[in-house]
Amino acid sequence: MTIINPSALLTPDGIVTGMAVAFDNTVRAVAPKAQLLRDYPDADLLEHDRPTLLMPGLVNAHVHLEFSANKTTLKYGSFIEWLYSVIEHRESLIDACDRDCLDRTVRTMLENGITAFGAISSHGTDLEAAAAAPQKVVFFNEVIGSQAAMADALYADFVTRLEASEALRRRGFHPAVAIHSPYSVHPALIKKALQLARTRDLLTTAHYLESPAERDWLDRNEGDFKPFFNDLLQQSYAVNDARSFLELFAEQPTLMTHVVHASDDELSLLAAGGHTVIHCPVSNRLLGNGAIDLAALQRHGIGWLTGTDGLSSNYTLDLFEEMKIALFMHSGAPLERLAQQLLNSVTVDAANALRLNCGRIAEGKDADMLWLELDHEPHPQTPLHLLLRRYPLLQIYIDGIPRKGARS
Ligand SMILES: [Zn+2]
Repeated sequence: MTIINPSALLTPDGIVTGMAVAFDNTVRAVAPKAQLLRDYPDADLLEHDRPTLLMPGLVNAHVHLEFSANKTTLKYGSFIEWLYSVIEHRESLIDACDRDCLDRTVRTMLENGITAFGAISSHGTDLEAAAAAPQKVVFFNEVIGSQAAMADALYADFVTRLEASEALRRRGFHPAVAIHSPYSVHPALIKKALQLARTRDLLTTAHYLESPAERDWLDRNEGDFKPFFNDLLQQSYAVNDARSFLELFAEQPTLMTHVVHASDDELSLLAAGGHTVIHCPVSNRLLGNGAIDLAALQRHGIGWLTGTDGLSSNYTLDLFEEMKIALFMHSGAPLERLAQQLLNSVTVDAANALRLNCGRIAEGKDADMLWLELDHEPHPQTPLHLLLRRYPLLQIYIDGIPRKGARS
């Protein structure tokens, strides 16, 4: 048993002082230090000579490990130009991200305080690295393919990858299902994959209404996607529209990533379906997709998380950076409230959405925690400063085990 006596704890409602935390693999008690020392006289007591904060480990709900070799290869600024650059360089980028590259990426996330993540796997080349990661992982096997004639073969390939991930299932590694997007997956394929997910009670995710090009294509079979589908796939119309796609998920609460260009009606459907949105601010900016309307999500009562997306559309996998960017992107939102919402979006809300028993420092939760050294005595605006400044991480715990400096 260990007791940490920080200057403050971060909770979903802000900063709490005067409380210490007793934990082994899970949090056993949150109470004043004197009480914990009475209850657990043999515990190791950890204190620090400067102000500190104990907060939940960060949960990155959306990342693509397989594209981690990208630095400056892919073209930023417009979604469709980026997509063409992905198609041109996909093979070489995936080949370049060998096991070393994958392990480094996982390690970087850990060093940035990310103690759990949701990985979207398109090819399964990241399976072994993800399964060996020290973090908790939800491993989303992705299904993609808009041509009906290919549906059976693509479904079979998806099932093979899903079974390979099931074979590595362990505590903290959870196979799951990703549907790529409304423009790229045939409804027959979506139905089969969702049926399998429901039968096995697997989590599901999808990209949804990311770009203006997607909006134009789904609504009118026009825009930047038209030459893309005409030339590359000999396809002249979208296989789903925005509404019919969502209707396929009516019985399956799903993590919907991006949702930058949803209408009021679609937001109502997202709310009715119990779906959760994953906001990836850096990716949206770099691919020219604009900024999500967080106030509209909140009006509709839709929960939202913050994720990094992959290094195919980001320069780092760092949720502190991502939250800071979001804080400035949504410049009309009340400052302190948005800061706390962003922190919740990568802790308690993300853990709940990924069905992980972490994200809060509370009795019975897994002891996934970050212990930070502050440069001030904690006060009500400390959550805001967590986003503005980069406080040193004294220790990172996953299941109560110190991970900083340890080799994974
Ligand atoms: Zn993505």
